Amino acid sequence: MFTVDLSDKMALVTGAGRGIGKAIAAALAGSGAVVAVNDIDAASAERTAGELGRGARAFPADVGDPGAAARLVEDVTARYGRLDILVNNAGIEPKAPILELSVADWQRTLDVNLSAAFYTSQAAGRIMRAAGGGAIVNIASIAGHNIPLPNRSSYVASKAGLIGFTRECAREFAAYGIRVNAVCPGVIETEMTAESRSNAAQLEKWLADIPQGRLGQPPDVAGLVLFLCSDGAAYLTGQAINVDGGKVML
Ligand code: NAP
Repeated sequence: MFTVDLSDKMALVTGAGRGIGKAIAAALAGSGAVVAVNDIDAASAERTAGELGRGARAFPADVGDPGAAARLVEDVTARYGRLDILVNNAGIEPKAPILELSVADWQRTLDVNLSAAFYTSQAAGRIMRAAGGGAIVNIASIAGHNIPLPNRSSYVASKAGLIGFTRECAREFAAYGIRVNAVCPGVIETEMTAESRSNAAQLEKWLADIPQGRLGQPPDVAGLVLFLCSDGAAYLTGQAINVDGGKVML
């Protein structure tokens, strides 16, 4: 992983107990940032924070709950006195055909994958505005670019919404020196894709569609997030950037 200097920065990463969020937390900490590690699962948040060191602490919370998400941002800011970087990474992916998907699963997906970014960005935006700037990165998906995935209607809708919210947020927050971008991973090797990857036919089909001929690893996503949080991306906002081995070329 390349490094940038984030040694005076404070970052909050949601869903960082494992997978892509954990790799993002590690990349930010590796560049000098102090990282607040959120996850709905307290044990995995503690584990990540312990592995990161450098003042990292666990902040367990369900970001799909509006009160809990706002409190999370308040608690982190109260603990560290600032918040420079927010990465909205927590996500879920219920699988069911539309005709069978429950209303509860539909709603929960929108709560965690889309509304949570509004809750945390609103709270963090107020803090960053007062401080004169910041960077927000939302982890969307190539599925958010109107690319249908079978049996994942709530997921696809939530990620398309997250890309739209990213653009609106970037437009409104630009006046406050806050940059907002989305990262759209392709197929990354994490627990989220474990079941599908264990299906040999599915795996072969995925690989055939990826020009680079391999699935992504969490650090592949973390590298792009790190860049977007750095001063190197100072003139970059409102974008939704794919990191997918060339699977989707827009
Ligand atoms: P993952 O391995 O399932 O990790 C997601 C983490 O988020 C888990 O630790 C999970 O906690 C946590 N989480 C779930 N709901 C939460 C909530 N309400 N509040 C706080 N934390 C919560 O998934 P991943 O593959 O790393 O995915 C990370 C992000 O990348 C997601 O937004 C996902 O949609 C996106 N993405 C992934 C891929 C891919 O191929 N993997 C592709 C495109 C986009 P638990 O331990 O309780 O489950």
